[in-house]
Amino acid sequence: MTYFISCILRLRSGYFHYLHKTLSYRKITATQIFDGHRFLASGTVIIFDSTGTIIDIISKEEAGEDVENVEGILCPGLINAHCHLELSHMKGLIPEHTGLQDFIVDVVGKRHFPEEEIRNAITNAEKEMIADGIIAVGDICNNTHTLFQKQQNNIAYYSFIEVSGWNPAIASIRYEHSKKIFEAYQFNPHNSKFIIHNSSLSPHAPYSVSNDLWDLLTPHFPEKTITIHNQESAAENELFKTGTGKFRDMYAKMGLDDSHFTPTGKTSLQSYYSKLDDAANKIFVHNTFTSQEDINFINSYPASRLSKPPTVYGQSSMVFFCLCPNANLYIENRLPPIDLLRKNNCTIILGTDSLAGNHQLSIKSEIKTIQQHFPHIPLEEILGWATINGARALEMDTTLGSFEKGKRPGWAVL
Ligand SMILES: [Zn+2]
Repeated sequence: MTYFISCILRLRSGYFHYLHKTLSYRKITATQIFDGHRFLASGTVIIFDSTGTIIDIISKEEAGEDVENVEGILCPGLINAHCHLELSHMKGLIPEHTGLQDFIVDVVGKRHFPEEEIRNAITNAEKEMIADGIIAVGDICNNTHTLFQKQQNNIAYYSFIEVSGWNPAIASIRYEHSKKIFEAYQFNPHNSKFIIHNSSLSPHAPYSVSNDLWDLLTPHFPEKTITIHNQESAAENELFKTGTGKFRDMYAKMGLDDSHFTPTGKTSLQSYYSKLDDAANKIFVHNTFTSQEDINFINSYPASRLSKPPTVYGQSSMVFFCLCPNANLYIENRLPPIDLLRKNNCTIILGTDSLAGNHQLSIKSEIKTIQQHFPHIPLEEILGWATINGARALEMDTTLGSFEKGKRPGWAVL
């Protein structure tokens, strides 16, 4: 039917004018249009129906009257692949540049607030993201505080129920606790054709999940996107290589028993990577201390160990490197090795992390920071990270991430 209508539109702009009036189509063009993959020829018009579904992408000449002209770059709704909406009430509470270990101690110690304040901050943070042009969020959850907001179906979410527990003795208690939260997030969005909600049980970080806890988690990985905070500080690699450093100090400060831990002699990523064999997609977040050696390890990893054959995007793109440069600058005053990742054709996506460790939840601001520090990277490439790549990582690319007929990707203006 859509095809039929679009054929008529191409032939008879007069008839289209009639359709526009009765079915409230919107015809939009812009100074530049980025479609999720590339910039389109100037004068291209995108036609959305009243539900926001794209019914055609045509030239200005074919589009007839009533074309709305947007100043700036029009692109598909942005994907924030890493956020902690539940920490939105902590904006400005933690000083900058303290380093990751002190930051974690601060988050754990200062996060408890009256529930109403937490809920208000969550609502406002979602509004901030929508105003930024964000249409989907990969969101970390340690509790059910964000559930009421997600059930309003304003934007799409992949809720990553975060599991942590360094002491093996409490592995089953922590696992059962997280599983209850995971069950609470199993709801069907009202408008499930377009608004997507998915969820998985995901490990917090290599330094906060004991082997016993990993064993309980891995059976939940098949067919899911699994995310983990990866190599966010130099101390993480040091802990796994030699068993020394700032994480040992952090465990002591937090009163955590770490006597069970035996260093592997390898980097953090290489120590735990095989535990994610069964995940459909893996999202590594931060990667500020990921090296060429780590990328070589991933690229030469035997495909036979992975639970499913390569996807249509190819095996390597099942691994996503999520960058949150503003949070890295806030916490560690450091930037991720973007040129290293690009040189190795790694699939990059973008996230904001939380308002506890960032001044705003804005993908546009993350793009701006990357442009400032890496001016040689083409904008077209960065916009792909913020749109189609993020949608693939969150398994939402059938509706989001690019301007294509039949999709309902929303839009952002830069
Ligand atoms: Zn995070």
